[in-house]
Amino acid sequence: MQFRDLKKQYEVLRPQMDAAMIEVAASSAYIGGPQVKTLEKRLAEYVGVKHCITCGNGTDALQLSLMAWGVGPGDAVFVPDFTFFASGEVVSVLGATPVFYDVCADTFNADPISLEKAIIAVRKEGKLNPKAVIDVDLFGLPADHENIAAVAEFYGLFFLEDAAQGFGGTLHGKRNGAFGDAAATSFFPAKPVGCYGDGGAVFTNSDDTAALIRSLCVHGKGSSKYDNVRLGMNSRLDTIQAAILHVKLDAFEKYELADVNKAAAMYNEALAGLDVILPTVPEGWGSSWAQYTLRLSDEARRDAVQASLSEQGVPSMVYYPKPMHTQLAFEGNRQYVPCPVTEELCRTVLSLPMHPYLDAETVSAVAEALKKALNG
Ligand SMILES: *Cc1c(COP(=O)(O)O)cnc(C)c1O
Repeated sequence: MQFRDLKKQYEVLRPQMDAAMIEVAASSAYIGGPQVKTLEKRLAEYVGVKHCITCGNGTDALQLSLMAWGVGPGDAVFVPDFTFFASGEVVSVLGATPVFYDVCADTFNADPISLEKAIIAVRKEGKLNPKAVIDVDLFGLPADHENIAAVAEFYGLFFLEDAAQGFGGTLHGKRNGAFGDAAATSFFPAKPVGCYGDGGAVFTNSDDTAALIRSLCVHGKGSSKYDNVRLGMNSRLDTIQAAILHVKLDAFEKYELADVNKAAAMYNEALAGLDVILPTVPEGWGSSWAQYTLRLSDEARRDAVQASLSEQGVPSMVYYPKPMHTQLAFEGNRQYVPCPVTEELCRTVLSLPMHPYLDAETVSAVAEALKKALNG
């Protein structure tokens, strides 16, 4: 059993996919080919924003956004404590200080109340300059963007949506990637829409931010690639990845997003009544189900259930085992407010196999294995 069945997906998409890849190989336009431009246009339209700038990966997309806003040493950037390392890493790499705040237990996502506490604490201490807020569409579910945006706006901070896992999710009819002054997504193969390698994109409605990012991702170019007006990086989406993403996006729009939601509904039904807490999608929210994540009663039980599932041939993952504020890499340059919810989640979460090609039989098999694991 696959945790995320990318092979199955390739088999289904094979004719279009092979044609798309060979077309790029034959064209020899490996960097900046026409597929990149058409993909950016298509992604911007899908998400519902003015600009999409593709780049090398989701981490770069986050970093480019912060660079465009001039984030650097002395600045505080507020980051959820329960996320993938990259959400905080980009802050530290730029010399700024990540300030970790807590999440909500039921959605796994940014808690606006904890965020405000963190901002007030930093302002009170008066050492760092509060600069930007990051929230994360964890596991495909939109964060509470409206309330996070309200807090960011009240304190005059930039707002960056980390939509690396959230492509396709919706909040009150608006798609993930359309929140924040900018949003970053990832096309890492296992994300809701993935390519065959690394890829990423920034979304923004701001002409200024878009222009800066277009410069920053090509060595800080000015009027041309050989006129360099600022320090940037080299971060591009390969033409072949853009061609692959066109095919993936066709499938995602036509049926994958619907099918992964059907898979979630099958899990919800099959696992109802078991001694686990199922993931919830609040009214008005829509998830793209990057993960289907359960909560168990305590760490020992979670670990025992994972071991039993593994013995029964069912892969599962702990996303994420460590709160960001405890990561060694941040030591010496980080702050945090109390994050008891994150600490509890790190002890109790368990993600099950999840992807649009999950069939009813596999869902039943996972449910049976989980029942055994819980009773064993
Ligand atoms: C995957 C991920 C990233 C980084 O994306 P890459 O494309 O792997 O660089 C950033 N933030 C979150 C929340 C992620 O899940």
